[in-house]
Parts: sequence; structure tokens; C-alpha cells
Amino acid sequence: MDLSVIKDEVTKVVVTEEQLKVRINEIARKIEKDYEGKDLLLIGVLKGAVMAMADLARAIQRHIEMDWMAVSSYGSGTKSSGVVRILKDLDCDITGRNVLIVEDIVDTGLTLSWLKANLESRGAKSVEICTIFRKPEAAKVEVNVKYVGFDIPPAFVVGYGLDFNEKYRNLSVVAVLSPHMYS
Ligand code: 5GP
Repeated sequence: MDLSVIKDEVTKVVVTEEQLKVRINEIARKIEKDYEGKDLLLIGVLKGAVMAMADLARAIQRHIEMDWMAVSSYGSGTKSSGVVRILKDLDCDITGRNVLIVEDIVDTGLTLSWLKANLESRGAKSVEICTIFRKPEAAKVEVNVKYVGFDIPPAFVVGYGLDFNEKYRNLSVVAVLSPHMYS
């Protein structure tokens, strides 16, 4: 969906389609280099990471495998709490695998630090994180993110997989949701 369709519902564009494309390609080159000669399993976190996973996976010029998890981080409205529940688990065994978690956004980092620990406890050889967006709060949490697309301001954003009440995931840019949409 183009920005023009919902331009009254957002206040500003944070990342454009072109910026996304360029950055995803840069990250793909780094991943190819870092995992040279090693197997690689991308684990996408549903549903927010669907767009990022689809674009990143296609940009990587080597064999990879893909699997998905869905987690719900309890919390109300626009904040997460760190209490995580698995809604959909992996289909594959990750024992001895090099795992790269592909996430949409790190805010407090609570969801990701839980997920990383969970995957490590299953005997993965390595567990790293790639997030497309990172908010300033994330810096305070002890979660080591290996690949970051964009550092963005601490506002609630939608688009490129990120939703508000399940909508806006198909917006092709990332934009700040206008407060009048949720207050
Ligand atoms: P954390 O546990 O890092 O605070 O939150 C991570 C999750 O909260 C993300 O996977 C995402 O689902 C949601 N989230 C955090 N910030 C935003 C935001 O600005 N927009 C949207 N749509 N979701 C967000």
C-alpha cells in the first residue's frame, strides 16, 4: 500500500522504500561474509518480520533455510511487557545450527532477549539477531543485536510488517502513526 492512501493517518515517514532496499542489501552482504562456509537458518518472528524476512532472504546470494516462530509479548496497547508466550513454534530442530533471528523492531528488547535465550537453550551452535528497526530504549538492555537496519526515534511506527491492530503491515514505507489514530 502506498503512503498516499493513508497519508492523513501518519505524521511522518521514517524510512522510505528505497532506503529499505539499500540497507537490506548491505545487511545481506555482511551476512554472506560472516557465515561463509557455515550453514545458516533464518528464523522469522511472525508476523512483523514477514516483509523483512522475504526481502532479506531474497537478497542473500547463497543457500539458507527459513523457519518461523510466533510469539506474543503480553502488554497493552503500544508497549510490551517481556512476558512471552509461544504461539507457533519452529518446525525444525535447531541443535547444532547457526541461527539468525530476523525481527522487525527492538524497542525494550525484552521479547528478543527472551527469544535468544530460548533458542540457545535448544542447543543451537550460534544464535544471532538481525533487526530492521531499533529504538533508543533498546540500548539499555543486554541484548546483543548483530545486524541493525535503522535506528529510529522512540515513536510508535507502522508499515513494512509493523502493525497497529493488525493494519498497516502492507504499507510500503515506515511511518509514525498519528496519535489521533489510537487516542
Ligand atoms: P520489545 O519487547 O523490544 O519492547 O518489543 C518488541 C515488539 O513490540 C516488536 O516485535 C513489535 O511487535 C512491538 N513494537 C515495538 N515497537 C513498535 C512500534 O513502534 N510499532 C509497532 N507496530 N510495533 C512495535
